[in-house]
Amino acid sequence: MIVMKFGGTLMGSSQAIKHSASLVVSSVKGGESVVVVPSAMSGVTDMLLKIASSASDGDIAFANDEIALLRQRHLSTAVDLGAAPNSSTVEKLLGLLEQLAQTVHGIGLLRELSSRSKDLIVSFGERLSAPLMALALEGQGVRALDLTGGQAGLLTGDDFGNARPLPEAYERIPERLGGLFQQNITPVVTGFIGETRKGVITTLGRGGTDYTATILGAALNADEVWLWKDVDGVMTTDPRLVPEARNLEHLSYAEIMEMAYFGAKVLHPLAVTPLQDKGIPLRVKSAADPSFPGTLVTSEPRAGEGAVKAVTAIRNSAIIDIGGAGMVGVPEVVSRIFNVLAQENVNVLMISQSSSMANISLVVMRPEAKRAFEALKNQFEGGEFVRTFELWEDVATVAVVGEGMRGEKGVAAKLFNAVAAEGISLHMISQGSSELNISFCIDESEVEKAVKAVHKAFGLERQMLATKDG
Ligand code: ADP
Ligand code: ASP
Ligand code: MG
Repeated sequence: MIVMKFGGTLMGSSQAIKHSASLVVSSVKGGESVVVVPSAMSGVTDMLLKIASSASDGDIAFANDEIALLRQRHLSTAVDLGAAPNSSTVEKLLGLLEQLAQTVHGIGLLRELSSRSKDLIVSFGERLSAPLMALALEGQGVRALDLTGGQAGLLTGDDFGNARPLPEAYERIPERLGGLFQQNITPVVTGFIGETRKGVITTLGRGGTDYTATILGAALNADEVWLWKDVDGVMTTDPRLVPEARNLEHLSYAEIMEMAYFGAKVLHPLAVTPLQDKGIPLRVKSAADPSFPGTLVTSEPRAGEGAVKAVTAIRNSAIIDIGGAGMVGVPEVVSRIFNVLAQENVNVLMISQSSSMANISLVVMRPEAKRAFEALKNQFEGGEFVRTFELWEDVATVAVVGEGMRGEKGVAAKLFNAVAAEGISLHMISQGSSELNISFCIDESEVEKAVKAVHKAFGLERQMLATKDG
C-alpha cells in the first residue's frame, strides 16, 4: 500500500487534477492499494484566511465576493472533470459552499474569530478539493470515495491551528479505511484537517497535508508514503533562491526534519515523525517526471555522502537578548524565561548563552517576537536579575544540515569563512550537540547572499552530478 499526497499546485486546475489522478491510477491498475491525500486547490487556504479575517472585521461584502470566486473555480473544475449539473459531486460542492457562507455570515455578525472558527473556515479548502480528486479518479476508471480527515479516523487534540493526532487515531484509521480496500475503493482523504473526540474540525498547521499523509501511512502500515511535488524532490536549498540547487537522492528522517524545522518549505516539520517508529520510507517525487526517483527518506544516513547536504533559511525571525550580572549563577532565571515563553505559547528556534550566564539570546519567529519580548520584560523588569532587554527584528536564520558533519573537522571554519568573505556579520551561532546542523543569524537583507555563498562553499551544486542532469 502507498499513501500519495498532492499539494495545492498539483490540485490547482482540472488539468493538474487529471494529471495527479493519472499518477494514482497507474499504481492502482498495477495492483497497488493507494490512499490519496489532496491539499486545497492552490491559493485557496490563503483566500479562506482572508475571508475569515475580513468577515471578523465586518467586511461581509468582500468575504461574499471571495466565496463567489471559490464557487466559480470549484464548480467549473468539476464540470471540466465531467460532473453533470445535478450530479452528487456538484450537490456536495454547493452544500459545502452554502455552509461556508453561513459560517462566514455568523463570524461577520459576531465580529469575532477564534482559532476554532478559523480552523472550520480553512477546512473548506480541502473539503472542496477532495471530491474533485475522487471525481477525476472515477473519470479514469478507478472507484473512489472522498472522506474528511475526521471521517477517516484522524482524531486530534483541541489545539486548534496546530493540532496533533491522538494515539487512538492510529487504531481508528484502519477501522475506517480497511473496508474500502476490500471493496476496491480508493479512499481520498482531505489533507490538513482532523477532528476532536467531540467531532469539532481541527487543522494540523500550514503545510499539514504532508502530515496527514504520514499519519495515515503509519496507521495503515503502508509500504511507503509518496509526496508528489512540483520540484524534483528535496533539494540542496530552495530552488527559488538558488537556481543551481540540486535534488538530494537520499536523506535520513533526522536530516529532513532538521531542514523542515529550519525553513525548507518542502515539508511540514513534523511530517516524518509518524513514520520513524515503523521505519516506513518517505519519497518526495516530481509529478512532472514520475520516473525520476526524487528523494528517498529512511531512518539511516547513507555512507559516502558529503558532510553538509543542504542549506536552509528562515527569513522572518527575531533575536531577543536578555542580560545582567545578576543572572550569573542563578539557574532560576533560565527556568523563568522558559516558563514565560511556554505560557505565551512561543516556540524557540535557537538559544545561546554566554558561559558567565550574564547573557541569554533566543531566536523566535517574528510574528511572536513582540509578544515574547513584552512578556519577558514584564516578568523581569524592576527585579534584581535582569538589567538589559533587546529585541532585533530584521533577522534571518540560516542553517546547514547533514549527518556527515558529525565528527568531521573544519565544517564550521569553512561555513563561517564563506559568510565572512561576503562581508556578512553574524549575530548569533548555534550548533546542537547532535552535530546534525549549524545555524546562525544574520541581517535579513543578507540572507540570499549568505545562502548562495554557503551553497557554493560546500560544492552543493557539483556534488549532485549523479542525478538527473549527470
Ligand atoms: P506542496 O504544495 O506540494 O506542499 P510546497 O509549496 O509546500 O508544496 O513545497 C514545495 C516548494 O518548496 C517548492 O516549490 C520549493 O519552492 C520550496 N522549497 C523550499 N526549500 C526547498 C528544498 N530544500 N527542496 C525543495 N523545495 C524547496
Ligand atoms: N492547504 C493547507 C495549506 O495551504 C495545507 C497544505 O497545503 O498542506 O497550508
Ligand atoms: Mg506544502
